[in-house]
Amino acid sequence: MHKGDGYLADPALLPAVPVGLRRVLDLVVSGEATSRAEIARRSGLARSTVGQQVDHLVGRGILQELESSESVRGRPPRVLTLSPRAGTIAVADVDLLASQVAIADLTGRVLAQEPVDVRIDAGPEAVLEAVTERLLNLLERCGRDPDRVREVVMGLPCPVDFQRGSAVRPTGMPGWDGYAVAEQLSKRFRAPAVVDNDANLMALGEARQDQVDTPLLCIKIATGIGAGIITESGEVYRGADGAAGDVGHIRAVGGGDVLCACGNVGCVGALASHRAILRGLGIPESTDEDPLYGAHALAERIADNDPPAVRALRQAATEIGEVVAMLVYMFNPRTLVLGGPLSELRDDLLSGVRAVVYQRSLPLATRKLTITTTQFGENSAIHGGIALALQHIFSEQGIARMLVDEVGEG
Ligand SMILES: [Zn+2]
Repeated sequence: MHKGDGYLADPALLPAVPVGLRRVLDLVVSGEATSRAEIARRSGLARSTVGQQVDHLVGRGILQELESSESVRGRPPRVLTLSPRAGTIAVADVDLLASQVAIADLTGRVLAQEPVDVRIDAGPEAVLEAVTERLLNLLERCGRDPDRVREVVMGLPCPVDFQRGSAVRPTGMPGWDGYAVAEQLSKRFRAPAVVDNDANLMALGEARQDQVDTPLLCIKIATGIGAGIITESGEVYRGADGAAGDVGHIRAVGGGDVLCACGNVGCVGALASHRAILRGLGIPESTDEDPLYGAHALAERIADNDPPAVRALRQAATEIGEVVAMLVYMFNPRTLVLGGPLSELRDDLLSGVRAVVYQRSLPLATRKLTITTTQFGENSAIHGGIALALQHIFSEQGIARMLVDEVGEG
């Protein structure tokens, strides 16, 4: 068993992908066509061209052609799908208190998912070790060849230099600043690896759902407050330096002199994040037995209508609403999603934010705006990581890489 080093190839040296092959692959991946005849009909390509490209893709282990069980008059039709041998995607959503890993196939279907018990403040080496071990376990359990991981994606709860694949001056994450996370992951899995901000991945995961309109703005309210922006065409908007969406340090209306971890005072993240609410109520964030103790305890108090807890949540909603109203002016999103542990608490947060946004924003910006909470809950960053990986794998460069890769025995 050996795998090609297509992932190491200089992009400039990769062969051009034939237009016909691209079209055939797109139709099968999107599920629009499942047979040679259908591909020919939909693409307008000659049957011989379709046959040639299908044979090539089957030969490379990217597509498979199976006999369908539903026989229509005589010969059973042969059905084209992505081959399980085409590879897998490995995703890790690393958060301060709770982390998750998952593997998915190239149709984006999650094959297995598990929490990883490692603290982010243990440093990048320990976290990468734990995440890698768990991902390799999942691959083995699902019978997937670790040498055929096509892309690794890791989400981190801090500003990320997307090009370099490392965290940039994160707070509460000793050892992570500038550490070459993507490079290390790429070495371990012998595959391209990317690192992204957790709110970006959450936003991508939400935008990937059916019937969700873009542009989309996703606000993650957790230890801090961050935002992910998805453009109309479904891409993450990162800004000039990758810092777009780092909204937790915008000054809150009622910010006063509350000190933020960034050194400034009055940041909305220091006032209205999940962590800030827990601190205000004297609830510990985590205990030895339960890393998410704070989230559970707050949820209980809100469910019991505990007045101080409900009041704290409503106040936070108002502060967040003020910042979000400003962002709605700026970006004019079609969908606004609230995520993180607070968004799962009854409707107080959602209705509080809605009230301020509708009151503050102009009718033109809110007429068609949907304000909602996450559909995927705590899994949205995993789904976003899968979406990001698929964008790369089925890009021109990604397909070229798959084509130059050796076909393994697996
Ligand atoms: Zn700050």
